[in-house]
Amino acid sequence: MKTQTPILLTTFFVSLVLMLTGCSPAPDDTEQPVTEPQAQADLVLTGGTVISVDDEIGQAEAVAIRDGRILAVGSAAEIELMIGNDTEVIDLAGRTLIPGFIEGHGHFLGLGNARMILDLRPATSFDEIVEQVAEAVADAEPGTWILGRGWHQERWDPAPEVAFDGVPPHHALSEVSPDNPVLLTHASGHASFANAAALAAAGIDADTEDPEGGVIVRDDEGQPTGFLRQAAQLAVRRAHGEAEQAMSDEERQALFERQVELAGTEALAHGVTSFHDQGSSFSDIDGFRRLAEQGNLPVRLHVAVRGESNADMDRKLPDYRMVGHGGHFLTVRAIKRQIDGALGTHGAWLLEPYSDKPDTAGLPQTPVDDLRETAEIALRHGFQLNTHAIGDRGNRETLDLYEALFAEHDETDLRWRIEHAQNLHPDEVPRFAELGVIASMQGIHATSDGPWVPQRLGTERARERAYVWRSLLDAGATICNGTDVPVEPISPIASYHASVTRLMDHGEYFFPEQSMNRMEALKSYTIDCARAVFDEDLLGSITPGKLADLVVLDRNILTIDDDELAATEVDMTLLGGQVVHVRE
Ligand SMILES: [Zn+2]
Repeated sequence: MKTQTPILLTTFFVSLVLMLTGCSPAPDDTEQPVTEPQAQADLVLTGGTVISVDDEIGQAEAVAIRDGRILAVGSAAEIELMIGNDTEVIDLAGRTLIPGFIEGHGHFLGLGNARMILDLRPATSFDEIVEQVAEAVADAEPGTWILGRGWHQERWDPAPEVAFDGVPPHHALSEVSPDNPVLLTHASGHASFANAAALAAAGIDADTEDPEGGVIVRDDEGQPTGFLRQAAQLAVRRAHGEAEQAMSDEERQALFERQVELAGTEALAHGVTSFHDQGSSFSDIDGFRRLAEQGNLPVRLHVAVRGESNADMDRKLPDYRMVGHGGHFLTVRAIKRQIDGALGTHGAWLLEPYSDKPDTAGLPQTPVDDLRETAEIALRHGFQLNTHAIGDRGNRETLDLYEALFAEHDETDLRWRIEHAQNLHPDEVPRFAELGVIASMQGIHATSDGPWVPQRLGTERARERAYVWRSLLDAGATICNGTDVPVEPISPIASYHASVTRLMDHGEYFFPEQSMNRMEALKSYTIDCARAVFDEDLLGSITPGKLADLVVLDRNILTIDDDELAATEVDMTLLGGQVVHVRE
């Protein structure tokens, strides 16, 4: 492996030694060990390819960390000088080290909530489902509901011996979850399975008549088996809804903390060390603040305020503005709004009508005047405005509004954002760079939406305007990548793969001329997302002085073939210099 040591780094290293030893310049003898304890690293990662994502540093072989920050980056020999008696050393063994991924647009509690619902799609037997529920029960407080979705009796092989309508009775399930109501939704959504506790909560027993439009499946004795078809599910769903309403403050807090923990575990397992949450209510931000102050936030959160009225925001934003709170774990300095809907539902606001629905061009979801009032509030309180805009009209209106407000304001570096920016008229493309507006775009959306986008827009309009990363980058815009999790899985690798290939699941490419190159895509997931929250001096590259948020990948995503990218594994995640995830 070829390693270059840029001048800046060498200068940094020498001045560090000078600074710490306080003596005259060391002789030109790089073999001389640095013995001063202050110069020692807490942790060294060495023997791999370090992709710093810092243009001045380029690539290196090793990184030294102290007090949670990057101490130095350089060749293995240079960094070896910082290894002392108390230094922990991790051998990268040829693997690749990159800055922690930054998820630019996700829903943190939504991710946690999605993880609380068991994914039953992979189950190939009823017994497996019972096992999954048993594991969930072990982590759950008695009385809390266990939810699952996606099971299908056609996937069970062999078919259960004792079954009614193809599904076994609830007894095995009820045995592992005597105190927790269980509600498992069928893959079709048209049926559910309930255990004894859930049936009891819904008041369903042998005497209950089938509701209109539904069937309570029964065994030979007439007892409900737990399998509920169509409208028969509703009583159990209602019981679950009532239980949620009746939660105590403590239960609500426990649920919140569980969601945070699950979302954090999922993020770190995918190498995501910072997460832009788009967004949360004041009361959820209270919860994040409490956890940040206890040192219990699992990843660094940049939270946008969402779902609050203009009047409430104008009053409360000063109390909620936080930058790097709790040791750089919580920043609240943005507002999330939404000007239009989604392309899939013909809700995105277009300049011309939909190709497959010519009677509509979509509609604004938020009146522009209302959005303007929010924008003024954002300016008044020093907040960024992150506006969801998908259609080309929605994007034009948002940029017009931003431009008008920026013109009235002295501050020029506001970094307001457009979330998604999926369809852009060519006139809008240069405006992102000109206005300094961040394009917060999700690589994975292009390939998951790609198969049907040309129906909505027509092929030519899709080619010209849909997910135009190449055009934006060439025009000098900053793109911050992400997944919109839980809309898409949180995997940065999948979104990176989509960003550089635009390869869709069915094997075709979605206008691949708009792809990013490998380094652009990596920057869009690291330093450019750091810039999108004013944290480029703290996050997003492996640069001395920055927080040591790092990811070890099992292969080099800058150099491997396209068809190897999707299989890239996150081997290890470090947050503030601490190993917080290791792949099993
Ligand atoms: Zn979203």
